[in-house]
Formats: sequence, C-alpha cells, structure tokens
Amino acid sequence: MFSFSSLFIILIASVFVFVLGCALWFKLPEDRGKALLVVDTFIFTVWILIFLLLFTVLGVIGVSAWSKFIYVGLFAVLSAAVIMVARVIHAEMTSHEKTIRLADTLRQKNRALEQLDGQKTEFLSIASHQLRTPLSIIKGYLELIRDGAYGKPTPQLKKVLRNMDETNEWLVQLVDEFLDVTRIEQGHVTYAFGQKNVNDVIAGVIHDLKNRAAKHRTKLVWKRSTLPMTKLDEDKVKLVIFNFIDNAIKYGRGGIVRITAVEQKGAIKVAVTDTGIGFSSAEKGSFFQKFYRGENTRVSNVNGTGLGLYICRKFIENHGGTVGAESAGLKKGSTFWFTIPVRS
Ligand code: ADP
Repeated sequence: MFSFSSLFIILIASVFVFVLGCALWFKLPEDRGKALLVVDTFIFTVWILIFLLLFTVLGVIGVSAWSKFIYVGLFAVLSAAVIMVARVIHAEMTSHEKTIRLADTLRQKNRALEQLDGQKTEFLSIASHQLRTPLSIIKGYLELIRDGAYGKPTPQLKKVLRNMDETNEWLVQLVDEFLDVTRIEQGHVTYAFGQKNVNDVIAGVIHDLKNRAAKHRTKLVWKRSTLPMTKLDEDKVKLVIFNFIDNAIKYGRGGIVRITAVEQKGAIKVAVTDTGIGFSSAEKGSFFQKFYRGENTRVSNVNGTGLGLYICRKFIENHGGTVGAESAGLKKGSTFWFTIPVRS
C-alpha cells in the first residue's frame, strides 16, 4: 500500500544523497571534478526516486512481492545500462572535442613559436652584422700598432697586442658562426660549386692551423692520398675541415691529430682523429645539433657556442653528404668525419 511512510523514506533517501553530493563538492579541488559530481548526484537522486516510486506504485496496484522484485530489478539493470552507455558516449564526445581544442591550441602556439624564432633569427642577424664592423676596425688598428704605425712597439706591448688580436679573432669567429646560423635558418646560404680536389682544401686548412696546433703542443699528421676531383663549394668544405681540426686541437689537449681522406663507395670520407677528451657513446648523435655542447666540456674548460658542428652538418648535407662522430669513451680520443659524394 502507498503510504506516507514510503514517501517519507523516498524523500529522506533523496535528501541524503543530495547532502552527500554537496558535502563531497566542497572537498573537491578541481572545477571539472565538481561539475561531474553535480551531474552524478542529480542523476543518482532521480534514479533512487524513480526506483522507490516504482516499488511503491507496484505495491499500490497489487503486484506480488516476487514480481515486484523482478520488475524493479529489471528497471535497475536497464536504467543502469542506459546511464552507462550515455556516459560512455558523452565521455567519447568530450574527449574528441578536447582533442580538437588541444590541436587548435597547439597550432596557435606553434605559429607563435615560429614567429618568435623568426624574430630571434632576425635579431641575431642584425646584432651580428653590427658587431662585425667594429671588430674589423679593431683588428685593423691592432695590425697598425703592431707594424709600428704609431711608434715602435716594445716586446711587452707586442705580447699584449698578440693576446688582443687572438681575443678579437675569437670574437670574429663567434660572430661569423651566428651569421652562418642566421643565414642557414633564413635560407640565405648560397653555394658556389666547382671541381676541386679535397686534398687541396685539407692542405690549406693545415697551413692555416699550423701555428695554433704548435701553440697547443699538438702534432697534425696528414698524408696526401689519391682522390678524384669532385664538385664542392670550397669555402664551405674548408670551414667544415677547419672546424673539425680546430675542435680536435681544442679538445685534444695536446697529442696527435690525424687527418685522413679516402675514396669509399662513391664518396670521399674525411676523418679527423684526436687523442683527447673523447665522449660517451650516448652523446654520439647530439653533437651536430644546434647549440649542443657535450658533457665532456664540463671537464675540458673550453669555451664554445655549440654551433660549429651544426653549421658543418648543414653545409655537408647540402653537398648530399653525411656527418658522424665516434669515440671509445671519455678520455679515449674521438673521430669526427664527413662524407661527400664524388660528382663531376
Ligand atoms: P663548441 O666547440 O663551440 O662547443 P661545436 O659545435 O664545435 O661547438 O661542438 C659541439 C660539441 O661537440 C662540443 O661542445 C664538444 O662537446 C663536442 N666535440 C666537438 N669536437 C670534439 C672533439 N674533437 N673531441 C671531443 N668532443 C668534441
């Protein structure tokens, strides 16, 4: 029989669920969790109400106790299934919308980053150009003073001038690296390809670096091999070989730097091996990335930007070649190499 006590139970149960939901709502920190809880509490309250109403109504119309349980059980199972399916569909739709929103945000952020990167490259380019001129002027004056244009320099002054010249040269190299990187990123690098023997390029670099190697008590070992002429941009390949040998002197810490050039599988492979600080194999693939400086630089105390090898890779890749580095481990020396295809 329908009675006030049944109604009372229904109301108490609903209020209980509602109060429980509200109590939990204040405990939840996240807005999304709270919103979901409100929906859940509402659904659950309505569900209990219908459940108890059905139970009461079945009693009123005189359905037997067993049938009442079967009907109410059926209702419980079916409604639970409907709620679950609805929730799954809702969750799917929400996650799909979320993915679309995320992809949109990522696209916007990517565009903003590209813009920032372009501005950074532009800034680097302008700053480097502005620095290049005063550095060239300083270099000119240093030469004039050294050559006695302002009076005969004393031996002590000559030594100071040499140090100043070296520092100036280092700054020029730094600015040149920045300029190269900005040109690469803006796609402004031009290549002047011509037929050349790599041996001649190596000979030129060794000549330029002879004094530097001697100063670092490093012996440069190279034997001219038989190589075919190939199509290359001499200035770019010269810069690559210069960087490899210069690094070998810097990180070799005295000892022997061996340069080899061989023809191999239709390509010319140039390798520079030193007996210096080496590196762990985990870093092997990283040295040719922009601004990457190895773990080994912590122990070597050598200044640098981590741009030299990145520029080398870009130049070699534009010759259709590849670059690489090998070492047996820290303090066990290393080999940096590149290949360029033989082309006529
Ligand atoms: P930089 O020398 O200015 O740091 P590079 O691009 O020329 O930049 O070199 C990147 C990194 O590669 C260096 O910081 C160093 O960790 C590693 N490296 C380059 N040459 C050698 C070498 N001969 N021996 C050991 N590590 C080297």
